[in-house]
Amino acid sequence: MTVVVAALLGSAYALGRSLVPDQVPGLSTGATTGADGPHYADQPSGGEPSGTPSASTGPAETGQDGSAPNTGTDNLFGAHATSGSPRLALTFDDGPDPRYTPQVLALLREYDVHATFCVVGENAQNHPDLIQAIVNEGHTLCNHSWHHDVGLGARSADAIRADLLRTNAAIRAAVPNAPIVWYRQPGGAWTYPVVSVARQLGMTPLHWSVDPSDWELPGAGKITATVLTQAEPGSVVLLHDAGGNRQGTVDALRRILPDLTARFELEALPTDPT
Ligand SMILES: [Zn+2]
Repeated sequence: MTVVVAALLGSAYALGRSLVPDQVPGLSTGATTGADGPHYADQPSGGEPSGTPSASTGPAETGQDGSAPNTGTDNLFGAHATSGSPRLALTFDDGPDPRYTPQVLALLREYDVHATFCVVGENAQNHPDLIQAIVNEGHTLCNHSWHHDVGLGARSADAIRADLLRTNAAIRAAVPNAPIVWYRQPGGAWTYPVVSVARQLGMTPLHWSVDPSDWELPGAGKITATVLTQAEPGSVVLLHDAGGNRQGTVDALRRILPDLTARFELEALPTDPT
């Protein structure tokens, strides 16, 4: 009985969500917009994206990057999961965000570390100053779709192409000629079309190999422990500087950087991938 009631409530909730005006009709992006900026299905109050029947599993099925079911290599469609060198690459997704991106940039500066920022188009449009700061400080960029559309890979090639181009245009409105040679699919929900279109547009699909699920807010201690335990040469570490409350990630980064820089050479993913 409890399950039935939960399912009914879930359906009613999904229906209600579908009536929210700024939702894309018939398609879940996993994103909502709160008073303090966009949330990308990472917050407990963010709710389950509409159209997802498995409400009982929570956002883990469809939510943030680290939640993707595609954690094995079978579903990556050739997306890179390592740096391709002995160096370790830190990646920061979903920004830029005026609350957290400057804190991340300051910590990276303090440890003389360069990283890669997988930015969301609408956030790039809203915060061009932060895109400029990212580039000016020697970090590299990765396209992370316009609106963090976890379902983008299921859309038509034309729709995917338009989304990726719109995102690149927003980035280049802030930094003309900015190299954007990486694409990371939200939720890691890779499909053959999204990989193909990204490649056609000159971007290499980028996954990850170390995922502390920081968007689930496990606390700085757990984020730190996961990264330091799993890091190895060539790791691509998935972190988030936006999409919700990221103070835990910032606090973890403060603990992670002294250790990682002692053990590894860190790099921003190159803008000339081979
Ligand atoms: Zn993301």
